[in-house]
Amino acid sequence: MPESIDQPDWRRLLSQSIVTIGQLCGRMPVSGDAIEPVIERYPMRINPYFFSLVQTAGDPIARQVIPDPAELEESGLTAADPSNEYVQSPVPHLVHRYPDRVLFLVASQCAVYCRHCMRKRAVGPKTTISRDHIDQGIDYIRTTPTVKEVLLSGGDPLLIDDDKLESILSRLREIDHVELLRIHTRIPCALPRRITGHLVRVLAKFHPLYINIQFNHPAELTPEARAACALLADAGIPLGSQTVLLKGVNDRPEVMMELMRKLLASRVRPYYLHHPDPVKGTAHFRVPVEKGLAIMAHLRGNLSGIGIPYYMIDLPEGGGKIPLLPDYVIRRDPESLVVRNYAGNCFTYPL
Ligand SMILES: *Cc1c(COP(=O)(O)O)cnc(C)c1O
Ligand code: SF4
Repeated sequence: MPESIDQPDWRRLLSQSIVTIGQLCGRMPVSGDAIEPVIERYPMRINPYFFSLVQTAGDPIARQVIPDPAELEESGLTAADPSNEYVQSPVPHLVHRYPDRVLFLVASQCAVYCRHCMRKRAVGPKTTISRDHIDQGIDYIRTTPTVKEVLLSGGDPLLIDDDKLESILSRLREIDHVELLRIHTRIPCALPRRITGHLVRVLAKFHPLYINIQFNHPAELTPEARAACALLADAGIPLGSQTVLLKGVNDRPEVMMELMRKLLASRVRPYYLHHPDPVKGTAHFRVPVEKGLAIMAHLRGNLSGIGIPYYMIDLPEGGGKIPLLPDYVIRRDPESLVVRNYAGNCFTYPL
């Protein structure tokens, strides 16, 4: 992968991102006046790679990254933090909800700022995560032996420089009770050139290390994105996907099916399909749960079992995530289950 001497290629690409109204208006048919207040509240960043995937205004790629005046509408969604991440933070930027694992928010910047982001209150250049915060997080993990797994998230952890990322990972690896490391990222999808040979060699020092990638639409699986996934998979890193169910992006069964097929072909195992969280500023992406369940019912039976993610809702008040299933069980009697199969046919299953 070509990298110039002064700065790696991906940094240059990132520095050419669309971040101001002026840069956007020249390229997309949008109203600067309507969008200005949106980006004052929630930052915009669309790097040239991801922007090149946009074909028309309002298409599934554009919807994810082009600011929309709907983000400021009063919608009844007033919570910036509906799943109570702040409340479950023993130290800043670390969420300890489940006994065995913590979510460690080590970065606040991303390769694109997704309009549907569940942490849109906290991503962007205005949030800084200091060295001191990282130290506090690592100290908490070191002194909390129930923590077996650390999930690095953000923001996007893979936007951190290789050296700094290596330092964080190696300090976590030195802790005996930390068995697993996991990174949640959008980089292979949003800025695949960031997946350099050097980065992959750094990551591969810290096995077992898992990476979950957010992919939301089949058009995101370009040859570049697939090559980035291949580099990671070849280094022995198990890859999973996290897809957010989004109105106007992937809320049709055929689109979701194509996405899951392309993920499988790229060695990315579909992991979660997230029902969108009721986060302030994202009401225009919301889809009824029935629609998500219908998509799941369509996948089952039409797609390899290893291509079927769990459909998850994140409960309020920090209750955690639970999977939802289509109603396969119609009735439960003392001696039998009456069930429906993927094709809608009924069966009695003796107990
Ligand atoms: C989603 C989440 C996790 C990880 O959950 P998994 O089901 O293991 O993927 C961990 N901590 C918090 C706070 C989360 O929101
Ligand atoms: S990459 Fe992730 S954290 Fe960053 S804006 Fe998108 S959804 Fe939010």
